[in-house]
Amino acid sequence: MSDVMRKRVLVTGGAGFLGSHLCDRLLRENCDVICADNLFTGKKANIAHLMGNPYFEFVRHDVTFPYFVEVDEIYNLACPASPIHYQFDPVQTTKTSVHGAINMLGLAKRTKARILQASTSEVYGDPEVHPQREDYWGRVNPIGLRSCYDEGKRCAETLFFDYHRQHNVDIKVIRIFNTYGPRMHPNDGRVVSNFIVQALKGHDITIFGDGTQTRSFQYVDDLIEGMIRMMNTPKDFTGPVNMGNPNEFTMNELAHLVIKLTRTQSKIIHRPLPSDDPKQRRPDIDLARSVMSWEPKIQLEAGLLKTIDYFRSVL
Ligand code: NAD
Ligand code: UDP
Repeated sequence: MSDVMRKRVLVTGGAGFLGSHLCDRLLRENCDVICADNLFTGKKANIAHLMGNPYFEFVRHDVTFPYFVEVDEIYNLACPASPIHYQFDPVQTTKTSVHGAINMLGLAKRTKARILQASTSEVYGDPEVHPQREDYWGRVNPIGLRSCYDEGKRCAETLFFDYHRQHNVDIKVIRIFNTYGPRMHPNDGRVVSNFIVQALKGHDITIFGDGTQTRSFQYVDDLIEGMIRMMNTPKDFTGPVNMGNPNEFTMNELAHLVIKLTRTQSKIIHRPLPSDDPKQRRPDIDLARSVMSWEPKIQLEAGLLKTIDYFRSVL
């Protein structure tokens, strides 16, 4: 493919868990990829295999500052995603979501680039509607420990829709539900990586609360396919659209599955439930199914086996 034909794509947060898989996929699609990341939770190791590629460029950049570049598409993923990391510096977390969105939307406005926002199921908070559809407005605590992330992401959605209405920016908003897979940070405290790392090290498996709270876990490859499809939908489809696997599990079920698949001798122990921990979460994905014929293909056991192999190789 000639270089003038290649789409120039900016991925913010491209050295993180999801961003690095997205960079891989975009390079396979013959895009010219710029990965902008301040390496707060991302790692050069996640993109080391791309460094020699002439169509890949890594830029150390914090999205709370403006960034000038000429691009055709932007995927805005920059933001720590795990509670341990986003609560480490909550003011910076809100700034990353809000100032980051303003800067990236400004870039999209100037370059007329299409821009996709990686929003989250956390915009639904601790939901009283189950499963969650996109027209549910959510139940979020504005002043709690999770608020820097949840409200930051909600405000970013507001900015995306106002730039769209006010400045005709070509936006796409996806709400990502819990996603797991290779390159998750081993110490970021998210449940899938925690349980697998604990099991492989023979440590106790820590269930928070009584373990009856639920989540729906999506394997990373399914999400990346959904992101690409969303970016390629017609201009009049902005979302927000849910992306997650609708199969729902309790944390007790997840712990027992990880114990079975790793054949560990680890024991389960219980720890206090963190504040504002949502009791249940499951996406309604009818919209994604109907607009882009997308649904997850990789179910929990198969995805966990791949993730366990990854953690075995890095631990
Ligand atoms: P991650 O922490 O691995 O990746 C986030 C990346 O953003 C990291 O590389 C980090 O260094 C970078 N970053 C953070 N602040 C930055 C800043 N100010 N400037 C530039 N880069 C910055 O997390 P992830 O799981 O890959 O999440 C990626 C995106 O997807 C996030 O926006 C997150 O909110 C969203 N999301 C993820 C999930 C999930 O389950 N993984 C669920 C919902 C939404
Ligand atoms: N959790 C757990 N043990 C852990 C880590 C998390 O039981 O070691 C629980 C946590 O309380 C929550 C669920 O697992 O109910 C998912 O947590 P995670 O941080 O992965 O995602 P989120 O709460 O943001 O959906």
